[in-house]
Amino acid sequence: SPFSAVSSLKCAKVHKMQTQVEYSVRTIVDPHDIDPKLLQKLAYDALVWCSLRGLLVGDKSSERSGTLPGVGMVHAPVALLPMSFPESHWKQACEVAPIFNELVDRVSQDGEFLQQSLSRTKKVDPFTSRLLEIHSKMLEINKIEEIRLGLHRSDYMLDEQTKLLLQIELNTISSSFPGLSCLVSELHRSLLQQYREDVASDPNRIPINNAVNQFAEALAKTWNEYGDPRAVIMFVVQAEERNIKTLAEIDALGELQEDGTLIVDGQAVAVIYFRAGYAPNDYHSESEWEARLLMEQSRAVKCPSISYHLAGTKKIQQELAKPNVLERFLENKDDIAKLRKCFAGLWSLDESDTVKDAIERPGLYVMKPQREGGGNNIYGEDVREALLKLQKEGTGSDAAYILMQRIFPKISHSILMREGIPHKEQTISELGIYGTYLRNKTQVLINQQAGYLMRTKVSSSNEGGVAAGFAVLDSIYLV
Ligand code: ADP
Ligand code: MG
Ligand code: MG
Repeated sequence: SPFSAVSSLKCAKVHKMQTQVEYSVRTIVDPHDIDPKLLQKLAYDALVWCSLRGLLVGDKSSERSGTLPGVGMVHAPVALLPMSFPESHWKQACEVAPIFNELVDRVSQDGEFLQQSLSRTKKVDPFTSRLLEIHSKMLEINKIEEIRLGLHRSDYMLDEQTKLLLQIELNTISSSFPGLSCLVSELHRSLLQQYREDVASDPNRIPINNAVNQFAEALAKTWNEYGDPRAVIMFVVQAEERNIKTLAEIDALGELQEDGTLIVDGQAVAVIYFRAGYAPNDYHSESEWEARLLMEQSRAVKCPSISYHLAGTKKIQQELAKPNVLERFLENKDDIAKLRKCFAGLWSLDESDTVKDAIERPGLYVMKPQREGGGNNIYGEDVREALLKLQKEGTGSDAAYILMQRIFPKISHSILMREGIPHKEQTISELGIYGTYLRNKTQVLINQQAGYLMRTKVSSSNEGGVAAGFAVLDSIYLV
């Protein structure tokens, strides 16, 4: 079998590894310069590693994929080698993770700020309006969330011209890839180790990535704080996934006990982890909204609660970037300065000078609605067209969007692995830093940086998520 052939190849390599190699400190090879034969070997071993270690996703081209676990899998789209990333910016991104966690928690407690900031958006964006409706119901009954769990991911691009690490967005719901991102870091460490003589890079320059365990630990500790050994952690998923509950099932099977305990299918629920519910498509009918409200009313710990969810919207990101707004939520001046340093230019569409400039120079802006999950933003000439159209309509529908400074990261050389084939591409990358936060009443039990996700995409693509087929999972090599 091909696998046994590979293991004997690996044995041969082990002998060679005994002789110590001097690393060329702080560099990694240009992947486009790798000798074609070596490239083939690296790519093959990467594929073996993915298959054996579960760096896999469902294969859309296989009909039965998703119907049965373990059927129709393909290796995840990955970069063959890690992407160089400056150590100073890596440290900066890690350092602000707990401050952003704290900020989300503080903002979530200011119901008036959330309602006020989103009031114009509410009028023109039915999805955000439904979320706000649940939020105001909770304000009315003075619903208190004693235990708060945040599983966040703050995303950054490194602006080439200014050398600034700038935040793209902060995700507070369904932060994706804590599992696969750890495996990619391991894959890259393993390849650098195995091919240390050929690529002469130091595998230890890839930071250890423990996101999946840190997310699991935060969920487990939250469950523990809830304090009912018979209660479960419920994963809320989109309809094609298995094993877990959809919003529609929760509406059909869920009920609240007098004390607020949520029972689903006869089982008490301690913690609800949303892997769905962030997009309008997740709410096919009223029943999904009923389910969301039912969960919010319950005493189960929601990850995220409705207010954490709203605190992660692009509109709130833009409001927080206005002068003197961070000061409303944080006391420590150093912390405030650190967050502000990674804010890109962000504007509301009622700032007419900016809108005018964006119509003149649309390439310097990204226009964003209140959506998650990729594929929703507007770029380039489309920005101009969209802005002119909104101006013409004049119905206030501009409040559905924000404008953001377009960030231009450095273009690198990468080899992107897709469906078993290595592709040499010109790429740009986005670094996500996970953060975990757990508080019970006044006691903060967890507040930390919790691993990372590097995504690399072809430089010509505006957006392109991993699932959409433009971006791949990557790791970082500190330089
Ligand atoms: P979503 O919540 O849908 O992920 P994002 O704000 O992360 O929305 O935007 C999606 C993608 O668009 C990002 O992953 C990034 O590739 C690109 N993008 C977003 N904002 C900018 C920006 N200001 N400059 C350059 N690219 C951006
Ligand atoms: Mg997002
Ligand atoms: Mg994003």
